[in-house]
Amino acid sequence: MRIIRFNGGRIGVLHHDRVYDATDAIGLDTTEWPPVGMVRLIRDFELLKPRLAALLNGPSMPVGEVKLEVPLLWPNKLIAYPVNYLSHAQEMKSTSRSDVNGFFLKATSSLSGPQDPIVLPDLPTREIHHECELGIIIGKEGRNIALIDAWNYVFGYTCLIDCTVRGKEDRVMRKSYDTFCPIGPALVTRDEVRDASVLEMNLWVNEDLRQSANTRDLILGIPEMVSFAAAVFTLQPGDIIATGTPAGVGPMKGGDIVKIEIEDVGCMSVSVVQGEGGRNVAICA
Ligand code: MN
Repeated sequence: MRIIRFNGGRIGVLHHDRVYDATDAIGLDTTEWPPVGMVRLIRDFELLKPRLAALLNGPSMPVGEVKLEVPLLWPNKLIAYPVNYLSHAQEMKSTSRSDVNGFFLKATSSLSGPQDPIVLPDLPTREIHHECELGIIIGKEGRNIALIDAWNYVFGYTCLIDCTVRGKEDRVMRKSYDTFCPIGPALVTRDEVRDASVLEMNLWVNEDLRQSANTRDLILGIPEMVSFAAAVFTLQPGDIIATGTPAGVGPMKGGDIVKIEIEDVGCMSVSVVQGEGGRNVAICA
């Protein structure tokens, strides 16, 4: 199943380019704060699945007529594995690796949607890079998860662009600007993906193919990433894991269109705009 958020916090099922509105069927209040309806849907998915499937017999609208919004926001955690492809370690001349150096957290407030622009901070002396990544969505609560059990905690996947200001400051700050984590266009449940350990993924800036890779080249694979994180803290439904970028990262500028496509997961094109502000005592450009 492909699940989206649209038109002011409504939740829907996307099927063959048509949207089936699930808002009433799942009892979602689109005005609730914090807006955790999708987190709750993920937790309750097995219970709600028949209601969602039944929507496909009812009314629908073309996906082109809705405003797609960030499919998941206010997760408990946005976990990210840096340097999880050897090709990226080589291009960055980095000696760190995710299997040795572990993961970091990116602010969940950096999440944005498939039709929201990436707003670049005003840092004229800095490069701000795109990183093409598979996003994993956690489906249920768990701590100290054995490798053999890890797949059972994966709800699904999404396309994820990990935007990054290059520099020496702490990674969390450089990667947590608002709009620095576009995800979407949908959350795709695990059963829709034939084999997540061999997914082709590509990223273009305008017409140029910048990143092209396959998840078979991950240093830490999907079960390893889940198990590794759950050794530290309790994973919650809706937690997101950014799985790391392959080689080909590069700068974005205002006016660019960044397109990410992951086999079986989806495709989205996100515009880049130059914003104002964003300097502080550490990042003073
Ligand atoms: Mn990354």
